[in-house]
Amino acid sequence: MNFIETRGNDGKRPYNVSFSQAILNPIASFGGLYVPLKLPDLGEVFLAKHLTSSYKKMALDMLLCFDIDIDKDVLYEALDLYDKFDDASNPVPVVKVQDNLYVSELYHGPTRAFKDMALQPFGVVLSSIAQKRNQNYLILAATSGDTGPAALETFKNRDNVQVACLYPEGGTSDVQRLQMVTEDAKNLKVIGIKGDFDDAQNALKSLLDSETFKAKLKEDNISLSAANSVNFGRIIFQIIYHIHSYLELVRQGELNMGEKVYLNVPSGNFGNALGGYYAMKMGLPVEKIIIASNENNVLTRLINDGKYDLRKTSVTSTTSPAMDILKSSNVERILFDMFGSSRTKELMTHLQENNSYALSKDELYTLQSVFSADFCKGDEGKKYIKEAFSTGYLMDPHTATCFKANETCALKNIKTIAYSTAEWTKFSPTIANALTGEVDAHDIDALKSISKEANVSIPSMINELFDKEITQGSIIEKEDIEKEILSFV
Ligand SMILES: *Cc1c(COP(=O)(O)O)cnc(C)c1O
Repeated sequence: MNFIETRGNDGKRPYNVSFSQAILNPIASFGGLYVPLKLPDLGEVFLAKHLTSSYKKMALDMLLCFDIDIDKDVLYEALDLYDKFDDASNPVPVVKVQDNLYVSELYHGPTRAFKDMALQPFGVVLSSIAQKRNQNYLILAATSGDTGPAALETFKNRDNVQVACLYPEGGTSDVQRLQMVTEDAKNLKVIGIKGDFDDAQNALKSLLDSETFKAKLKEDNISLSAANSVNFGRIIFQIIYHIHSYLELVRQGELNMGEKVYLNVPSGNFGNALGGYYAMKMGLPVEKIIIASNENNVLTRLINDGKYDLRKTSVTSTTSPAMDILKSSNVERILFDMFGSSRTKELMTHLQENNSYALSKDELYTLQSVFSADFCKGDEGKKYIKEAFSTGYLMDPHTATCFKANETCALKNIKTIAYSTAEWTKFSPTIANALTGEVDAHDIDALKSISKEANVSIPSMINELFDKEITQGSIIEKEDIEKEILSFV
């Protein structure tokens, strides 16, 4: 399987590249992204074949259909990491919450957020490519809270890979910060910066573009890479759980094979939603993909009005911070798939130059044939958290946005699979506030009060964080990031 470019080819790069090349150098011509030349057509035959398969077995078969240049042994090793999830026989439980509404829980991995779904296996794949090429990679990550812990966890002690992870000091929850600063592997560096997430992200982008930084790394025989969510090496693992969730409902007798469902995704950078879109294109019976956002509702406006407009917009901090985003990178892959590379290049150039683009009427119609969207404000989200809790379901504020979107977008009498992207332990102060009204609690107190209120125990990997030694305490000024990273490598 080869990969082509969303904005067409600039004549300097190869026309198409292998999976491992797309992973190592994820940015394509004109700043575009890599996409598969052709998606495998799995259809109902594949679904029927895997009705009784384990998650891993179905996943392996799907990956093999992509015909990627990764050895089968490596894929086995990568998928084996799902054995470390809460239930090795079912890493992604799907539970019924209301009539016609099911929640697929993507957070049962080591860092309790859905980033583990893709980053766990991705760590094995990337490290194996690096070993095979006998190269060393420095992975840069900037995080607002969930990607950082998941990236550190997956690359910890892996060969030929080092990670430098930037986070905004004060910009993450206590749990998220502790998950990073208590990591003690030699190949990991965690750096708090005085600034916000945008500062961390901008610093990362300028290092990725800096020829002098790359030249300095080259002196030590190190190449630079990024583990952000545009990397197709992550996207490919996000197709699998959509197929799994559907099969799981058929297994439970809740769904007949072939019956259409809504997929309902709390969206930020659109990786999760893109995985659902590809699953649908590959034959999963999907009626529509419902995109849930928070107050940062650029995606809602794009899907409802056809306009991607950042001109009078800045990022608002919300109670679902993993979705606080303006430039939702993976939307580009949808544009490419629907409208082709020259139109994608035109639209993305317009976004770069004017901070906006507008779809034509026909294009909007095409987009709306697949997607519906709505957004949910923080206070509304808390109402949904409280309501769900009163029926016995504990959920986090990201998941809550789906409940709102489901009310307004799931118009037909068919079932919805909503995706839960974080465990309650990662955003406990907001949930405690929703359930008991307590305000400004520290994570440790909020965890305890929810644990008591809901009669659930705090998972050990979260509880232990509060007693672990802090080994990665460095907090620095933005200007010193490059120096700090060079001295680490
Ligand atoms: C990353 C993240 C999201 C957004 O997912 P995308 O694939 O970027 O759209 C939603 N919820 C949580 C908890 C996340 O960590």
